[in-house]
Amino acid sequence: MLMRTPGPEDKLPDFPAIRIAPKKKRFKVNKDRRAHIVRVVTSILAGGEPTRFAFEATCRHAVRSRLCLNGWSWAAADDLAADVVKDALRRLGARRPTWKEGQPEWAQDGFAPILRTRCIRCHRTLEGERWKFCSELCDQSHRALIYRIRDAEQLAAYDIVAKGVTSLTSARGPNAI
Ligand SMILES: [Zn+2]
Repeated sequence: MLMRTPGPEDKLPDFPAIRIAPKKKRFKVNKDRRAHIVRVVTSILAGGEPTRFAFEATCRHAVRSRLCLNGWSWAAADDLAADVVKDALRRLGARRPTWKEGQPEWAQDGFAPILRTRCIRCHRTLEGERWKFCSELCDQSHRALIYRIRDAEQLAAYDIVAKGVTSLTSARGPNAI
């Protein structure tokens, strides 16, 4: 079998030591600070309409983003945010709606769905197959209005939660919460 003997060109240069796996940071929050975040989130979720879940995503997003801005990894921040929101919902005794209850025209058993005779937006009499809005214009305008209201509520909720988390971190160094 033909073998090549190692020559000087085969000798690898001495590279500086490279740490391949970065040391894992430990992100922790003490009991009092966690309780404070849960209180803030609970107060926001309690005002959610039509259910306590209305601000669930906003609260999780707000907590996570503030922790990330304090140097936490996304995964660690998301874990704590999910945990905090879950605790807050448990405190409120929130129960997720069933699929049936989640439908836009859901009515409790024994109650007939609303039969409208007038347009929701302009109150003009509904004609033909139309059962909620008199025209596409009313339909789109109404949905745009609802969207803007919900968007404003979400932004306000985000600010309150973000300030609640930030107020705990501003006086301390990075990662210290
Ligand atoms: Zn209309």
